[in-house]
Amino acid sequence: MLEIKNLTKIFNLDQAPEFQKLALDNISLTIEDGEFVTIIGGNGSGKSTLMNMISGVYSPTSGSIIIDGIDVTNKPEYERAKYLGRVFQDPMMGTAGNMSISENLELAIRRGEKRTLRWGFKKENEEIFIKTLSGLNLGLEDRLTHKVGLLSGGQRQAVTLVMATLKKPKLLLLDEHTAALDPKTASKVLDLTCRVVEENKLTTLMITHNMRDAIKYGDRLIMFDSGHIVFDIKGEEKKNLTIEQLLKKFDNDSSIVLDDNLLLSK
Ligand code: ADP
Ligand code: MG
Repeated sequence: MLEIKNLTKIFNLDQAPEFQKLALDNISLTIEDGEFVTIIGGNGSGKSTLMNMISGVYSPTSGSIIIDGIDVTNKPEYERAKYLGRVFQDPMMGTAGNMSISENLELAIRRGEKRTLRWGFKKENEEIFIKTLSGLNLGLEDRLTHKVGLLSGGQRQAVTLVMATLKKPKLLLLDEHTAALDPKTASKVLDLTCRVVEENKLTTLMITHNMRDAIKYGDRLIMFDSGHIVFDIKGEEKKNLTIEQLLKKFDNDSSIVLDDNLLLSK
């Protein structure tokens, strides 16, 4: 589903060497259809850069990105949007606060379609929205006409998750999407994420700074360090991975926490 070949990103390449930054160093990676991958690594290790290059925010210095057999390396961000669902760390980013829940979902269900004059509200979509929102168990199905700006951060991330997955994306990209939430809400949104991913068999990349979450969720775990993949395990090996094994790999990197609930060295 996703093939990354010899991907390198150097920021500020047009500047003097001391201002240049090698963010990804010759990364190669293949993600199979339906795989749920957690990505962990210290601050500045290149995790977000990888996602930003998959979605076309930055272009690579060299290498290529292939999504479901289509080479998107030189395609602009808006053309890739139809293949991707994305949820960011900031709850304000994925939704339009001054629009209602149903208006936001309406935009999401038409992702990749051309705008036409007949782009009005479709009654049949409302049924889909109600059914999908009911599945979240947050009572949002009764608040379709409420402005998204009135929702809590956790509710807003839940709506963004629904928007990202309403039309099944080829790839779901989650960049620390629960990091700005309190631990209890974060774990609720994570469980929700897991359910949506499993029910729709979505190919998913989820960045987290939380070791326990990286171990608990997904069926493959990839670790980044200084623009390199330093650890990549799946299957039984991933299932049997312990916190102790993962801790050993980290050399006291304080940007990665063991568990947000324990509020360890953050
Ligand atoms: P992570 O998400 O793993 O914390 P990033 O991928 O955001 O790390 O960053 C990797 C490295 O690239 C860091 O050193 C960061 O400072 C640098 N970087 C990221 N984005 C930019 C940018 N737009 N311009 C210059 N440097 C950047
Ligand atoms: Mg990041």
